[in-house]
Amino acid sequence: MIVYKEVCVGCGRCQPYCPAGAIFYEDHKSAIDQEACYECGTCLRSEICPVGAIVEPPHVYEYPRALRKYFSDPTSTHAVTGIQGRGTEESKTNDVTLRCPPGSVGVAIEIGRPTLGMGLRDIQKITRALAQSGEYEIEPNNPIHSMILNPETGDLKPELLDEKVLSAIIEMQFEKERLPGILQTIKKVIPQLDSVFTLDVVTMLDEGLSIPQDILDVIKSEGFMWRPNAKINLGLGRVTE
Ligand code: SF4
Ligand code: SF4
Repeated sequence: MIVYKEVCVGCGRCQPYCPAGAIFYEDHKSAIDQEACYECGTCLRSEICPVGAIVEPPHVYEYPRALRKYFSDPTSTHAVTGIQGRGTEESKTNDVTLRCPPGSVGVAIEIGRPTLGMGLRDIQKITRALAQSGEYEIEPNNPIHSMILNPETGDLKPELLDEKVLSAIIEMQFEKERLPGILQTIKKVIPQLDSVFTLDVVTMLDEGLSIPQDILDVIKSEGFMWRPNAKINLGLGRVTE
């Protein structure tokens, strides 16, 4: 994002809207630090500027910078996957899409959040650790999948490594017997990350509409705290058959 200095009246109203603190005063006008900007679009969408000085220039959509917008602006659609947002909706609509049917589980590794963000090198730390452990199968529709250069090493495409996004999610699904190994791998890489981190485990409820106890036991035995979390996403679920 940029501010047209010729138009800006220096009111400062836009500055608190930036989750990255990227908007600052320069010569009594606002300016945007292009390195700090995640291209989340919040300053523009807020329509806070009284004179229309905040503008999205074409370079926002140039590769690899465009990834900032695709991951950080929830209203944008990823050019490669055609999906809005950081991950895929099936992680939240598993009960109808059955991406993780009984006998399997999903894991979503969420890194970064507004105000903190993350560098894509943190994604590579995780994909490398997963590849080295042989536990590496990222969901093909997840945007991270298309960013991998070498699935055997977990290396990302090198031109992406200096990019940053507000947050990203690595999604996987696998037979539930593999969950302990996946959690152990993730646990080892957590201290290397430079941002905040949330781990989601996606599972069907059992016949009693409870979270399967064997899944909870694995999470606990691998040293993770767990918090049951159900999301109701009206209109997102769909039958796939
Ligand atoms: S696009 Fe987002 S990160 Fe960039 S200046 Fe605007 S609010 Fe800040
Ligand atoms: S809200 Fe608009 S006019 Fe006010 S400082 Fe920001 S860019 Fe300038």
